Amino acid sequence: MKKVISIVLIAQSFLSFAQEISKERVVNIVSTLASDEMKGRKFGTAENDKAAEYIASEFKKDNLDYCFGDSYLIPFEYKGQKGFNVCGIKKGKSEKSLAFSGHFDHIGTNNKEGDNIYNGADDDASGISTVIGIADYFKNKKTDFSLVFMAFNAEEIGLIGSKALSENKDLNPVFNNISALFNFEMLATESQFGKNAVFMTGDEFSDFDELINANAVNDLKVYPDPYKTEQLFYRSDNVNFVKKKIIAHSISTVDMTKAFHYHAVNDDIKIVDADNLTNIINNFAKTIEKLNTKNFAPKYNDKVKYDF
Ligand SMILES: [Zn+2]
Repeated sequence: MKKVISIVLIAQSFLSFAQEISKERVVNIVSTLASDEMKGRKFGTAENDKAAEYIASEFKKDNLDYCFGDSYLIPFEYKGQKGFNVCGIKKGKSEKSLAFSGHFDHIGTNNKEGDNIYNGADDDASGISTVIGIADYFKNKKTDFSLVFMAFNAEEIGLIGSKALSENKDLNPVFNNISALFNFEMLATESQFGKNAVFMTGDEFSDFDELINANAVNDLKVYPDPYKTEQLFYRSDNVNFVKKKIIAHSISTVDMTKAFHYHAVNDDIKIVDADNLTNIINNFAKTIEKLNTKNFAPKYNDKVKYDF
């Protein structure tokens, strides 16, 4: 009897935890993107292409469908240079979708002596690890919402990749069904609100954060943006989807008052709080698992601007 009980318990824990993302997995994703071999993933470089291909290969392992055509890689051109955004989708019971994004490009290298590589572990390999982590979590799960996963290129040179993708008419069938977009930007360090806490830009423009907090699992908490004067809502990739009137906010943990690694060569794997990042990814995934088209329909209020 004792044996039977323990087998049942083991089976149960497998069922409820089988899809949890391990810290090793998160560290592996971040350190792959933030490795010296990626040379800072600057738009227009071979390493930037390599980063896009890596993300596409992870989307394939997670059994995502293509957003359009016969590849996860969606090409675009900017000032004569070619690059790719990455997009995958998982069909749910509803056509309506939740979208998850981050940017995989960073700012390359400098010509100084010593460490001259901007690894961009926090900015924004951490966000991409969140996007892939959520795709991992739902690999074998059928959700009510469809789930869209996007990795943007060329953020650092002016939100160019997300602009190109958002304006790509081939993707309108995907974008027209997005109920809300979670743009993950810099989640590698502990927030000023402590662990297991994030802040959301543009919280004053919609009820997105209230709805997430109402469903939040394991005490995950979304705080209002404490850096309002920085205008972060209008300075991140979410904004190209705001222009399309899609509910789109950026989610971050970065403490702007002491983020000395921001666009510095020490933004590497050493500054990543992997326990906190892993916990946040898992808690977001479990929270998202509770959302459906009935309990989650965030709306903008009339304070938001669509043209700027
Ligand atoms: Zn960034």
